[in-house]
Amino acid sequence: MSSMKIDTLRKSFGELEILRGISLDVRHGEFVALVGPSGCGKSTLLRLIAGLEAATSGHIFIDDRDVTRLPPKERDIAMVFQNYALYPHLTVRANMGFSLKLRGDAKDQINKKVEEAAGVLGLEHLLDRYPGQLSGGQRQRVATGRAIVRDPKLFLFDEPLSNLDAKLRVQMRTEIKALHQRLGSTMIYVTHDQIEAMTLADRIVVMQGGRIEQEGAPLDLYDRPANAFVGGFLGSPA
Ligand code: ADP
Ligand code: MG
Repeated sequence: MSSMKIDTLRKSFGELEILRGISLDVRHGEFVALVGPSGCGKSTLLRLIAGLEAATSGHIFIDDRDVTRLPPKERDIAMVFQNYALYPHLTVRANMGFSLKLRGDAKDQINKKVEEAAGVLGLEHLLDRYPGQLSGGQRQRVATGRAIVRDPKLFLFDEPLSNLDAKLRVQMRTEIKALHQRLGSTMIYVTHDQIEAMTLADRIVVMQGGRIEQEGAPLDLYDRPANAFVGGFLGSPA
């Protein structure tokens, strides 16, 4: 049983076909990095998986359940965006507990979940602060914490570190790796950073022009790119 299966997924905006038949199997606990040039459809694919956009055709299965037509809240997926989208007028605690409150969890239960996630991410001492009082890295951790509290079946990350400076990106990369090991969750991680993909992923999926160009273990792609495009993107220097 795979954690997620995508079958011939297509998405058009008007006349333009942005996803041109994407098929992908993701195992339980697998960390998949999704890479490819700007505009190739990575964010669109994540938005379809999360249910934020409707597929034109094709199917998405989560734990063997067809979720293609289900609204986002019934898919049990959490997404972490590049711009974090934190609520500026809410504390870290309230930001992290927001989705649990929406779904009607009891206050004690929300606090317990938020404090657990804060512990995992080293945010315990920041729970009463507001987003404006946090550094970029701390905001990124809050955005991740907001995803963790829901114990989702699947995590989707859309270039979560791209707004951070290079040094912090390297540090957060280590944290995300540790988080994946600790939670054992299935994660799909979009990045334009080749080294990030190589160090984090069990498998790298390379997209171009709305299609999957190649997929495989990081070193396989690095050593044996299927074509010049993948080679140029990920391959070892000739
Ligand atoms: P990536 O994340 O790989 O950079 P995107 O998935 O954001 O690429 O976008 C892929 C293409 O789809 C782009 O050409 C973009 O302009 C187009 N696109 C994305 N969302 C919409 C939309 N809501 N309406 C029309 N075109 C869109
Ligand atoms: Mg994008």
